[in-house]
Amino acid sequence: MATAESNDLSSLRDSLRRFAAERDWEQFHSLRNLAASISIESGELLERFQWTDPASSDLTDEEIQAIRYEIADVLLYLVRLADKLDIDLVTAGHEKIALNADKYPVDRSRGSSRKYTEL
Ligand SMILES: [Mg+2]
Repeated sequence: MATAESNDLSSLRDSLRRFAAERDWEQFHSLRNLAASISIESGELLERFQWTDPASSDLTDEEIQAIRYEIADVLLYLVRLADKLDIDLVTAGHEKIALNADKYPVDRSRGSSRKYTEL
């Protein structure tokens, strides 16, 4: 397990490129397959909460570790798909937060879970 990698998305991107190239898995990483994999791994994450709605303090260390790895699976496919499309995830994320701030002005959305079309 790599522990000396730098803690940023570009190092993850580079590790994933290497991982896929070493295994000749590029051929399987179509945009559709990667998008589907994000959804599949998100489902595996959600499965950890099927029929339960715990507070984080209720989870065991083993449960948190399992959730941690499912979150990582989602992240890795997300980073891989973004790489294929030459999308900077952090920049896109900041842009989306700004767009959401416009859609959900504080004065109309504070304390409300309504969709922006219903504010
Ligand atoms: Mg998984």
